[in-house]
Amino acid sequence: MSNVWSGITENAKLLNDGMRIAVGNGRRTLFWDHKWAMNETLSSVALGPIPMQSLGATVEEMWEPNQGWRWDLFAHLLPPWALEQIDSYGLKQDDGFGDLLYWGGSSNGNFSIQSALRLMKKNNAIGQDNSKLWRTIWDVKAQQRVKMFLWLVMHDRVLSKANMVKRRIGNDTRCARCNDLEETTMHLLRDCPAARHVWQTVGGPALSPSFYVGSLQAWVYRNLRTRDGIANDMWPSFFAITPWWLRRWRNDHLHGRHDRIPIDVSHFLHGKLMEVKRVLTPAVTQILQSSSVPVTTFVRQAGDGGLIRDHYGKFLYGYAARYGSCNAFRAELRAVEMGMEFARSLGYKRLIIQMDSSACVMALKEVSPYSGDCVHLVNHCRALMHLSDWMVEIIHVYREGIRAADWLANHGVGSEDKVKTWQEPPPNLLQILTDDIRGVALPRQVTT
Ligand SMILES: [Zn+2]
Repeated sequence: MSNVWSGITENAKLLNDGMRIAVGNGRRTLFWDHKWAMNETLSSVALGPIPMQSLGATVEEMWEPNQGWRWDLFAHLLPPWALEQIDSYGLKQDDGFGDLLYWGGSSNGNFSIQSALRLMKKNNAIGQDNSKLWRTIWDVKAQQRVKMFLWLVMHDRVLSKANMVKRRIGNDTRCARCNDLEETTMHLLRDCPAARHVWQTVGGPALSPSFYVGSLQAWVYRNLRTRDGIANDMWPSFFAITPWWLRRWRNDHLHGRHDRIPIDVSHFLHGKLMEVKRVLTPAVTQILQSSSVPVTTFVRQAGDGGLIRDHYGKFLYGYAARYGSCNAFRAELRAVEMGMEFARSLGYKRLIIQMDSSACVMALKEVSPYSGDCVHLVNHCRALMHLSDWMVEIIHVYREGIRAADWLANHGVGSEDKVKTWQEPPPNLLQILTDDIRGVALPRQVTT
């Protein structure tokens, strides 16, 4: 394998036409000169000369940990359709996810990379840090919507203005509240004067200057693990609900609804903390239905959606996401990956995944190594499925069995948000859900 690699990285231009790279952590892949995002190199579709200093950049160097693609470095040099392709990829910041070479000329991607896959299998597929983060969110005593939001915060997927501009939605990054500084997630939830005011009234660890330091992930992680004695050791819960409300008040402000942070905000948040104690015990079995709808119009975006239901069919959670341009297989895998991550953060112990893509079901059930463009996604999903602290089963259903997931996937495509979640079923979905429960649209029964 090392021979293969030295051959590639030293002689990028010699890369055979059929070879492609499945990007993992992006450290050994050249952003411009390797074929990783599409079947051509990005340099071959560049709109103008690529600046000398970025010519030899690796894919990793174009990625900001916890932030995403550094669009400012390359967006002006590439056509929109190429940017959409790049947008459908995300790097894994983990040594276990090396970049892998595969043969793009065949459907199964098999070349002589069995050794590379075996090597990767040996390294645990899920980074330890990542699963620690999971566990931390999962353990917080808070409503599920709050945990979901923390999940978005941890991955910096909150639609702050800075994040929207990064995704090329709008061009104003100024904070909606102070109208002064750039509204990053960090600013919105911690550093803006409006947020600081709220934290000061909350008290506890937030009174210390050290509360306001550290990266987004470190800040959340630290506070979720703090035991302070405040309100019977409820600081993690208290900490968790406050950003949720900060975001809520800011959205109300931005959309011209009443925008008042309650005068006695501390009292208000304590009231919310009491509600936390009424968190329900999760149902025995949750069913995750997922779907992807690749759109082949001019827009060429792919969207995924899924929903989590209990075993009586009751709606628990819905989600939809919009990715850049990618094929149905990748979109479907991302829908499952995301659904499993949500389900874990919600603390579910038994999950049945229903999906209508038999290719996906096969790839996830298959025990033999899979290689190809989606190798990291497949391996990550398999690793999630096989974690020892829950039980996951995956089954194939016909499309009419997952009409609700389909509806959400369609919604994700049209949505302005990158990720959208529902705690209550959207009104238009209600009829489909009711029909499902009444058995109007049951999955096909196959008699043997
Ligand atoms: Zn501000």
